[in-house]
Amino acid sequence: MLGNSRVCLGIESTAHTIGFGIVTSDGEILSNELETYRPTSGGIHPREAAQHHAQVAHEVLRRAIQKAGISIDEIDIVAFSVGPGLGPCLRTGATIARALALRLGKPLVAVNHGIAHIEIGKLVSGGTDPLVLYVAGGNTLITAHHEGRYRIFGETLDIAAGNCLDAFGIYAGIGPMPAPELEARKGTTLHPLPVRVKGMDVSFSGLLTAAKKLVDSGVSIPDASLSITEAAYSMLVEVLERALALTMKKEIMTVGGLARSRRLREMIDEMVKLHDARQLYVRDEFLGDNGAMIAWTGLLMHMHGLTIDISQSKVRPRLRIDEEEAPWVGRKSS
Ligand code: MG
Repeated sequence: MLGNSRVCLGIESTAHTIGFGIVTSDGEILSNELETYRPTSGGIHPREAAQHHAQVAHEVLRRAIQKAGISIDEIDIVAFSVGPGLGPCLRTGATIARALALRLGKPLVAVNHGIAHIEIGKLVSGGTDPLVLYVAGGNTLITAHHEGRYRIFGETLDIAAGNCLDAFGIYAGIGPMPAPELEARKGTTLHPLPVRVKGMDVSFSGLLTAAKKLVDSGVSIPDASLSITEAAYSMLVEVLERALALTMKKEIMTVGGLARSRRLREMIDEMVKLHDARQLYVRDEFLGDNGAMIAWTGLLMHMHGLTIDISQSKVRPRLRIDEEEAPWVGRKSS
């Protein structure tokens, strides 16, 4: 405890990032430390990433506690990412969380990673009930809270938007995001690419294939980058606009690693101007995977009695955002 507020340690380890964040029940973020596994080539190898996390976890945790200016005994709740994510990575974080909860004799909370992205975004941007675009290397979906839980209005039918742009960048020899977006700023000619939108769902694999063909046919990397990023972002903005018309929400918030894109933000700003809505801005630090988002969501869940017994704390690699109740939304917490 710090004064009258509870202190939660949040552990994030769903993919390439291992993070430890410490947050109070007043919403004060005391620390948010992380390390990211960067493969030398190709995508994330789950076991290698998990090994990385296990190796650096101790040091990242030490830093988080030091920066928070607390002693480990002042932690009241231990929260961890239970899913979705890569099995070996999730298990590494869960093992640390269980060990700490046992040693400290404190309750354990299993947090849905996607919901945590939304809750930290709301906390730092001051949002209350946004329509959310969650775009990252492994996730692309549109969600909003409705009758007790987050509902999915649209999602990708194949690969995630971030994955599409990362794979394009690697294929073109410039590396993953943000390289394609930076190259796009130097582009001058837009080449037509297939834009696949079905209702509020999107599909990116055809776009990726076609953009690779542009590179093969000798189109310059800046022009190919411009073409693929503009196509991908317009698909996202189109489905977001449909979801906005359907849900009639007044706030739009974009979270996840790809939300760092300045161009995507700009296009969403143009779109919301036409509607009676505004875009919330989340600082870059809280857009990608981080421990503070797990800590804050852990606190919200704990206030509603949503703790978990260690024996029931198995990780859930395929967990969806709409599989769990989010009873704290739209209610005053005590
Ligand atoms: Mg994420």
